[in-house]
Amino acid sequence: MVDQNKIREAARLMLEGIGEDPDREGLRETPERIARMYEEIFAGMEADGREELSKVFFVENSEMVLEKDITFYSMCEHHMLPFYGKAHVAYIPDGRVVGLSKLARTVEVYARRLQIQERMTGQIADAVMEYLMPQGVMVVVEAEHMCMTMRGVKKPGSKTVSVAVRGVFSDNVELQDRFFKMLQL
Ligand code: ZN
Repeated sequence: MVDQNKIREAARLMLEGIGEDPDREGLRETPERIARMYEEIFAGMEADGREELSKVFFVENSEMVLEKDITFYSMCEHHMLPFYGKAHVAYIPDGRVVGLSKLARTVEVYARRLQIQERMTGQIADAVMEYLMPQGVMVVVEAEHMCMTMRGVKKPGSKTVSVAVRGVFSDNVELQDRFFKMLQL
């Protein structure tokens, strides 16, 4: 649970810090709004993928399953500015699959906290390995970082791409290629 009082106080101080009057009409409710918003956008702090990924169906085949274009929003821990984009998650089952919405929920769990993109990518892959126990998993995340596009180097539209491979994907370039081919469909 986030400490809403602390966030309200801090938001007020930040308003003062930038030279604003936190008591003027438009800002009076802002600390309260931020506190409530943080509750939502950092809701992943206390979750892991276990719950989502343990409701499994049993299957015979072991063909690659790809859930692509999972939209996510996260917050960069260096600037507390959003980064957002799409995650693509593929795995090769070892007798168990999950409902597709569960992969999207898993992405959300790791997005809704202060993050760096590379770590988030790895955490999603690790969660799928640990809780779903497939033969392997591959995660690709492409994201735009507001800390790069609205300040600093200012390169709007530039994307950061990160990849995590686990299990049979790790040293199998053919499998990795198949993932990228399936992404283009
Ligand atoms: Zn940043």
